[in-house]
Amino acid sequence: MSAFLRNTTSLGLDVELKTSTPSTRKAEQSQTCVADSASDADTTAARPQPPAGCSGIEDHSTPFHAFLEYSMSFAFPILFVPNIYLSVNRLYELELLWLALLAIPLGLLWGDLVTGLVHWAADTYCSEDTPVIGQSLIKPFRLHHTYPRDICTHNLITTVGNTCILAVPLLSLCLYLMWADSESGWLAFTILCVSLMAGATVATNQFHKWAHQEKPSRMVRLLQRLRLVLEPTHHESHHTEPFNVHYCITNGWLNPLLNKIKFFRRLEAALAFFGFKTAKAQEQHQPQMDTD
Ligand SMILES: [Zn+2]
Ligand SMILES: [Zn+2]
Repeated sequence: MSAFLRNTTSLGLDVELKTSTPSTRKAEQSQTCVADSASDADTTAARPQPPAGCSGIEDHSTPFHAFLEYSMSFAFPILFVPNIYLSVNRLYELELLWLALLAIPLGLLWGDLVTGLVHWAADTYCSEDTPVIGQSLIKPFRLHHTYPRDICTHNLITTVGNTCILAVPLLSLCLYLMWADSESGWLAFTILCVSLMAGATVATNQFHKWAHQEKPSRMVRLLQRLRLVLEPTHHESHHTEPFNVHYCITNGWLNPLLNKIKFFRRLEAALAFFGFKTAKAQEQHQPQMDTD
């Protein structure tokens, strides 16, 4: 199982946030506590403290997971490019190139929705103790609220590897379908949308990382200003307690609409009807059960 986020080393970051969100303030307070206890325990040795918003925790992949991350990260472009080329070429031959232009915003919107749904689910349901996904999916997302700048220390493979593990099988299926039915224009359009969605989803954590960097490059800042990728001020709304808005983190295009229609609250209500309780609801219910 994979996650959009990871909990890895934060050492080596040498800049501080100029503005602090509640989450970063919480992290700063946490670090102050750590610093106090460290000085109590060892007053002679000077220990380097992680910067604001960083946990200072080092977390290493298992050899098998690291192999998957690297191999799938290299496989992703090998599958992504042919899917895009073959589907666009098919639409061109069928004189349906306008569908290719339509697929670009659709693929990006779809990617934004997928990241929003995964993010919302990881923030809202289950716990770090949940089998299989607890440590790999739930924990990184929730730790990100406390240590939002850990993501800035991830290298490219660490940033995109987990999502590539999911995207590669999907793109392999798309390539097979293109080969099996190379005549259909609608199939080509669908595969183009799915490929662009997969590309946007894989790129999401890089966009998310840029949104937390204090000094991204000029090109990145331009993309952020154009709202083609996640814009930092927009994303900061999510990093404000109770962390229950602006879940979409590819470019955030869908967040205003989903907030307005209370999409995630309605989804939670619908799931509650079928017995799926949020982690918060379960926590509130727990003391009552203990007293019964
Ligand atoms: Zn979150
Ligand atoms: Zn974030």
